[in-house]
Amino acid sequence: METIYLDHNATTPVDERVVEAMLPYFTRSFANPSSGYAIAAEARRAAEEARQAVALGLGATPDSIIFTSGGTESNNVALKGVVLANMERGRHVVTTAVEHHAVLHTCEYLRDRLGCDLTIVGSDPDGRVDPVDVGRAIRDDTLLVSVMLANNETGVLEPVSEIARLCRERGVLCHTDAVQAVGKVRVDVEELGVDFLSLSAHKLYGPKGVGALYARSGVRFDPLCHGGAHERGRRAGTENVPGIVGLARALRIAIDGIPSESDRLAALTRRLEDGIASRIPDVTIHSHKAPRIPGTTNVAFHFVEGESIVLALDMEGVAVSTGSACTTDTAEPSHVLAAMDVPPNTAQGSVRFGLGRHTTEEEIDRVLELLPGIVDRLRRMSPLYRKASGAHES
Ligand SMILES: *Cc1c(COP(=O)(O)O)cnc(C)c1O
Repeated sequence: METIYLDHNATTPVDERVVEAMLPYFTRSFANPSSGYAIAAEARRAAEEARQAVALGLGATPDSIIFTSGGTESNNVALKGVVLANMERGRHVVTTAVEHHAVLHTCEYLRDRLGCDLTIVGSDPDGRVDPVDVGRAIRDDTLLVSVMLANNETGVLEPVSEIARLCRERGVLCHTDAVQAVGKVRVDVEELGVDFLSLSAHKLYGPKGVGALYARSGVRFDPLCHGGAHERGRRAGTENVPGIVGLARALRIAIDGIPSESDRLAALTRRLEDGIASRIPDVTIHSHKAPRIPGTTNVAFHFVEGESIVLALDMEGVAVSTGSACTTDTAEPSHVLAAMDVPPNTAQGSVRFGLGRHTTEEEIDRVLELLPGIVDRLRRMSPLYRKASGAHES
């Protein structure tokens, strides 16, 4: 049985063309780019061409691109690096309640270990952050505002350019976690007006363990890794040349595909949402009216556990998730849905569908064929549902 993979927000398969582009840098051109001989120059050139390509893809200059081990590291460097380099100016950081844990937990660390003051701005019921709320949170001692571009659980796009404009007016740095947005919607650092932007290769059909941080030229931040002079002293450690080459190739392919893919994914997502809403009673499609990246939808099936749906679909060869891959070990309801004032029971019944490049109409239809039976079976076992439907009938 072929797996129907609908968890592209957790990770994506590596594109064959990306693998092809990477292969020579494992074997033939394996040299350390910092070395002095000819094959090292080859590796060095490949990494620098990749830097130019990534910069071009983001509307940035090559010297503002730092290669990292992924989205988590990029977020950590932006947040901790800015605080460590500018602590004498203030220690206040502003972020939002819907951020990925790679931002939220880093901010909590800055608060608990470095004495930072943290303001966590909430969202509306659709998961949208209001720039006015962010503006109100900014103080004279604010160093940095961090707001994600697209949410990994709901796909909601945040008004980052408006927030970055407010930051600039107030002389505050602005970071965006764009891991879920890059390669799905057009992302241009100048249009956004941000000072820092994080991205990750494995969310856009590139390899795991490599990403990039855009850091606007002249903006001060400390490196987290000290050692050699790699990445112009901003991230020590021998470059992951195959990964860097893979990231650049994957980004190019994803960006070139946006015009056709975004329409195709939006149509498939609509097919899935309409299909669910017409076949299954008592469902809520989260953030239905909000601007979202194409391909992500998060649906609450009332009176059942999302986790039970995930397991039942898994037995049929369909891979979906209840939200952030990092929280599957914990029984805690999603902090993102909680921030949207979704009641805990509804949040527990929510499932995230992340469609991707290889998702077909047939796959969506197969899921629509399976879901009503699964939800109905689980509901018939649910005392909550019996009570609620009993109440309807009497
Ligand atoms: C996946 C993800 C991350 C973490 O990226 P890694 O490369 O897996 O470390 C950060 N932020 C968001 C929004 C993500 O979806």
